[in-house]
Amino acid sequence: MSEIQLLPQVREFLQRSHAHFIDGQYRAGTSSRHVPIVNPANGEVIAQITCATADEVESAVAAARRSFKGEWAQTSPYQRGVVLNRLADLMEANGEELAQLETLCSGKSIHLSRMFEVGQSAIFLRYYAGWTTKINGETMSPSFPSMAGEQYTAFTRREPVGVVAGIVPWNFSVMIGVWKIAAALATGCTLVLKPSEFTPLTLLRLAELAIEAGVPAGVFNVLNGTGEVGASLIEHPHVAKVSFTGSVPTGLKVGQSAMAANLTRVTLELGGKNAAALLPDADIDGAVAGLIQTGYVHQGQVCAAPERIYVHRSRLDETLAKFTAALQGMNIGSPLDESVNFGPLANKPQFDKVAQFLQLAREQSKVVCGGKPLARAGYFVEPTVVLANGPQDRLLHEETFGPILCVLPYDEVEELPGLINDSPFGLTASIWTNDLSRALRLIPQIEAGTVYVNMHTFLDPSVPFGGIKASGTGREFGSAFIDDYTELKSVMIRY
Ligand code: NAD
Repeated sequence: MSEIQLLPQVREFLQRSHAHFIDGQYRAGTSSRHVPIVNPANGEVIAQITCATADEVESAVAAARRSFKGEWAQTSPYQRGVVLNRLADLMEANGEELAQLETLCSGKSIHLSRMFEVGQSAIFLRYYAGWTTKINGETMSPSFPSMAGEQYTAFTRREPVGVVAGIVPWNFSVMIGVWKIAAALATGCTLVLKPSEFTPLTLLRLAELAIEAGVPAGVFNVLNGTGEVGASLIEHPHVAKVSFTGSVPTGLKVGQSAMAANLTRVTLELGGKNAAALLPDADIDGAVAGLIQTGYVHQGQVCAAPERIYVHRSRLDETLAKFTAALQGMNIGSPLDESVNFGPLANKPQFDKVAQFLQLAREQSKVVCGGKPLARAGYFVEPTVVLANGPQDRLLHEETFGPILCVLPYDEVEELPGLINDSPFGLTASIWTNDLSRALRLIPQIEAGTVYVNMHTFLDPSVPFGGIKASGTGREFGSAFIDDYTELKSVMIRY
């Protein structure tokens, strides 16, 4: 039970002064505004970043625009794919350094940092690398009859939109950043990325690796700072698209200011209050194992994770007993300890928010297990299961983004669409059953961007992902991202 040794290059990186990466190089910040970076496992300040000024926003967008019109525009789709593949290789080659940095900033278990922030990111980069050579338009036969013997032909081109502003949250700051980098670079766009002020370091290191991989200077820039930096980036007249991942309240502001700025196109990947429905025939062992794995991974700080669980009344006691037994076996501790599977929440505001939800649970619902913050340094709470006080329990409706599963029993399967859809959100949902016919009948009735059967929170680069209702607009992955990062140009020719 001990923490892994930090690599010397991680210690050295932390000692640097951290600000921005613009036009292929580090830029020391010029602002007097700094944000401390706190290790959530112990509350200690490990570094600080300097917030970007208006001039630095200008300089990053100008660099991205220059390379969009210049060297990057001359780079063939094949070469873009080669560069993305090289970046994937470099992420793996430097994987332990990236993983340790990310765990220090986010409190994510070192296993998860290795597996998702590094491993999955490399998989996504290679997937998008494959797309670079397959982004095509269509050929059409115009439908009007010829007037005087002339003929027409028409085709469409998919052209990159230009400079993309990518705004990233703190929960999977590397992987979500990579989704935006990969989609922008695959389509021939350039990018200015604004990481979360809580987890800004690893993307700075990734920008260095991108240069090493052969990404031309100016194609991928990083600007650090709080929401104000994101807001001024969105309003820049040379930003052609905003790709935002974060909370609903911020997403609303981002969408409005993108539209007001320049009718700038915008993709919003927002929050969720994701339902899991256990049908009467569900394999409860399998469902509980699956929901523990997906509901408590990174302490529940996953947008797609299940937070409300509808269990057929005939299986309620058995389900709650199995949840309790599984949670009691969890090893809570430092995310740098490889034997630990439940670490701290990622930052103080997040800890305060989850602590308030736990208090609400103790006051108005029935806590089945867990239910309290832990009295130790860092931002730790217990993994928690709560029995709702009824269908209107706030814990069934408000996103906690924490390790709190709220359970409600139901009597008839026909109630499920009404219960699941009684939410402003529509990101993911899951159905747990071996009755395929019932599952297939429920799927069209569920308001969610992704519906899983006998699984939850599995993101695959080939399967489109995004939300409906307040969970957002637009899709990432699969071929869906191409619509969002390219303009469709029609060409008509008379001959
Ligand atoms: P947040 O909305 O507070 O911040 C997200 C990013 O936006 C940060 O980089 C922040 O600095 C920036 N920002 C803040 N105000 C801004 C403004 N006015 N203009 C521009 N940028 C601004 O979200 P968070 O707390 O970092 O992340 C947690 C939330 O993200 C949760 O609600 C979670 O569900 C959601 N999320 C969604 C997805 C998805 O794919 N749907 C994935 C991960 C997280």
